[in-house]
Amino acid sequence: MSPVLMPGLDGRVALVTGAARGIGQRVVGILVDSGARVAASDVATPPAPPNGIGLAIDVTSDESVDAGIRSVEERLGTVQILVLNAGILRMAALEEHSAEVWADVIDTNLTGAFRCARRCVPQMARTGWGRVIAIGSSAGKNGGSVPAAAYASSKAGVMCLMRNIAREYAGYGVTANAVAPSYIATDMIAGIVDAPPIPVGRIGTPDDVAWAVAFLASAHSSYITAEIVNVTGGILVD
Ligand code: NDP
Repeated sequence: MSPVLMPGLDGRVALVTGAARGIGQRVVGILVDSGARVAASDVATPPAPPNGIGLAIDVTSDESVDAGIRSVEERLGTVQILVLNAGILRMAALEEHSAEVWADVIDTNLTGAFRCARRCVPQMARTGWGRVIAIGSSAGKNGGSVPAAAYASSKAGVMCLMRNIAREYAGYGVTANAVAPSYIATDMIAGIVDAPPIPVGRIGTPDDVAWAVAFLASAHSSYITAEIVNVTGGILVD
């Protein structure tokens, strides 16, 4: 069977953060299969995808973000599709939630997305086309179902960041959206055993998230901006 491709991505230059595994790795796969030239980045350099590159970008470092994006620009061209996927989850009861953990989670999940967007979005606007997609979370909308104050707060923040960027750049051909997944089978939730009943009757897969991201990255989503797409199997209805 020939692969199913997402139209409207052929030849586009994409950067995906946190792409070594889980959702980010699957986003890379679908973008590549759809004809995009993809920079797959993570703290440690992931393998280069076909027609793309693998590179190290630690989203908690201004220097790493700047150097990594400069490298993408030199090797593939201006970033046209930015997928803000890098993230960490730290679960802790509030009274055991240290300031260090709080800072770490916010710096990775929220400020990391800000660093990458600040570097790429103005360039997109200059060329008149761009797509920014953040991986938010249902926890950023409803507070989440496990004690993880920094995580839920960071996800609310990154989804709001997309909406703010969307408004600022709507007149420049740049859209900014987020997806809000919950219970996707990756390493991140391996330790979480008490998932609520999921209306569609199964846990989510990285594929479920990656196809939503691919559509928001495509040429066919230009009238969708400042939107948050739930990918929750029906858990979250809002
Ligand atoms: P994984 O833990 O499998 O993948 C996260 C990736 O992010 C890892 O490759 C990790 O690298 C990378 N990463 C962590 N810190 C940094 C950093 N400072 N700079 C660059 N990369 C970094 O989790 P998922 O695939 O599940 O998560 C992907 C995104 O989806 C996250 O933002 C997460 O919050 C979000 N999400 C996930 C849900 C789920 O149920 N799985 C639900 C809702 C949202 P390393 O290998 O070095 O740790």
